[in-house]
Amino acid sequence: TNSVVTIDGPSGVGKGTLAQFLCCKTGFHLLDSGAIYRSLAYGALEEGIAFDNLPGLVDLAENLPVKFIENSILYREKDITSKVRTEEVAAVASKVAAIPEVRAALLKRQKDFAQPPGLIADGRDMGTVVFPHAPVKLFLTASAEERAKRRVKQLKNQGVDVNIRQITQDIMERDERDRTRKSSPLVPAEDALEIDTTDLSIEDVCQMALNKLYD
Ligand code: C5P
Repeated sequence: TNSVVTIDGPSGVGKGTLAQFLCCKTGFHLLDSGAIYRSLAYGALEEGIAFDNLPGLVDLAENLPVKFIENSILYREKDITSKVRTEEVAAVASKVAAIPEVRAALLKRQKDFAQPPGLIADGRDMGTVVFPHAPVKLFLTASAEERAKRRVKQLKNQGVDVNIRQITQDIMERDERDRTRKSSPLVPAEDALEIDTTDLSIEDVCQMALNKLYD
């Protein structure tokens, strides 16, 4: 975990944008751990594995037939990049992510992303569980209203028709589940730099992260 930068925080806080920016600046690899949980959710729906079928979910998590190629996600060679971005898949991802055995089954796969020259790891427990020895840890926050606004903007850009009240409610439900789950709850690592991005521009956040990276 020599050159690992972890970025954790709740949904819609701008982790993805920051992660991509830092990847461009550093040439490091990217781990979008949310995409792994979303792919698992997609797989469970696709293969008809019920959410209370623990052995089935763990088996799928251990052998998840997913490949990340450039900016695309392939499930059994099928492009599911836009499919995993739906609110339906997000809701299922959030539920399967609350199961400790599922999280454990995905650990190695996530750690394997740490390859030279380095890794930018985006998620909820990157700094606390997956890469506890990462030298640079960032934890982003923003008010729930601001995060809902950002998520709506992002979905609109993807051509998805959205209802802001529904999105706000969905985000708050998922965040509550992330914060209160027993296994790897969403909390900042002790040594993380916390950045409240509510009143900051993307450029400000990127600059603060870069300063931290090179100090
Ligand atoms: O970040 P994203 O919205 O794509 O993540 C989807 C869901 O996966 C989240 O709502 C969260 O419950 C779960 N997740 C997680 N741990 C991570 C990344 C995502 O529990 N490291």
